[in-house]
Amino acid sequence: MKMILFFGAPGVGKGTQAKIVSSKLNLPHISTGDILREAITKKSWLGIKAKETMNRGELVPDDIMTHLIDDVLKDPKCKKGFILDGYPRSVHQAEVLQTIVDVISDDPLIVISLVADVDIIVDRLSQRRMCKACGNIVNLNFLKNSLKCPSCGSIDTFIKRKDDEEDVIKNRLEIFEKTTSPVLHYYKEHDNIYEIDATLPVNEITKKILEIVT
Ligand code: ADP
Ligand code: AMP
Repeated sequence: MKMILFFGAPGVGKGTQAKIVSSKLNLPHISTGDILREAITKKSWLGIKAKETMNRGELVPDDIMTHLIDDVLKDPKCKKGFILDGYPRSVHQAEVLQTIVDVISDDPLIVISLVADVDIIVDRLSQRRMCKACGNIVNLNFLKNSLKCPSCGSIDTFIKRKDDEEDVIKNRLEIFEKTTSPVLHYYKEHDNIYEIDATLPVNEITKKILEIVT
């Protein structure tokens, strides 16, 4: 079973890489942020609970996240493995994940840590847009004022996430430093952690990841 985990600050490029690697390895991309955003769109119980917290850039409470991750990773669609993006975000969540992994597989997690300086991360978050027609994530810096989605061709369908506004970005980065970055020390006690320079072009990062995981 191949269990790959992308770790790093918000905006460092986890989702971008997880999506590409997921399609190359034919493994499900499990993004807790995407699952929560979908729940908000559907106005489900989970979405109603999570919405305000997410819009403030804070972490959704652990009890909710524990149920969510346990359900998703034990689903038959994850039986060959998964690519996890956005979980764990605290040492407690890393411990919960380890408990689940111990139940479902004898294989170790492969942790890919993506690293970039804070100024690059702030720039990526403020320039991030999502195509509301196909869900594709783009960086405005690369679109050269074009309003056309490079993935589906729709025009003027880009939207900005509420938590990518300047004041919320600041909050999210503070929470990352305080609560999420200690997860790295947790994983450094394991053998399977690999650090990658996230300032490289997307395809170069993908190449490095595939060298590690295949
Ligand atoms: P995360 O999932 O870690 O929050 P994303 O994958 O959504 O981050 O990426 C954040 C923004 O940075 C997006 O606009 C994305 O297009 C852009 N991006 C991702 N990887 C790179 C890269 N290697 N170089 C430049 N921009 C990137
Ligand atoms: P992301 O798409 O990964 O940037 O996540 C967006 C938001 O969803 C985060 O800022 C949190 O509010 C919430 N979220 C996603 N994953 C988690 C998690 N593992 N624990 C708590 N909250 C989360």
